[in-house]
Amino acid sequence: MHEITWICEVCKRERPDKAISVHTVDLSEAFGIASTCQRNIKYCNDNKRCHEGAKAEGDNEVTRARNIKTKEDHLGRWWC
Ligand SMILES: [Zn+2]
Repeated sequence: MHEITWICEVCKRERPDKAISVHTVDLSEAFGIASTCQRNIKYCNDNKRCHEGAKAEGDNEVTRARNIKTKEDHLGRWWC
């Protein structure tokens, strides 16, 4: 059976399933919407730099979400 692998979004390496964790950020509040809007960032759970990178990227996503002012921007650039 082929092993399940994922790409770390920080270092871009392909890793086995057990070496990848997901950092989830909730963007609902930043967008000012009632429904759930989350961003999942996959990272190597055995590499501290990847974990830190995922957390930093999550913070960046929240900042970007807060800077989007119009619905058109929202729909054109975001996934929820
Ligand atoms: Zn990584």
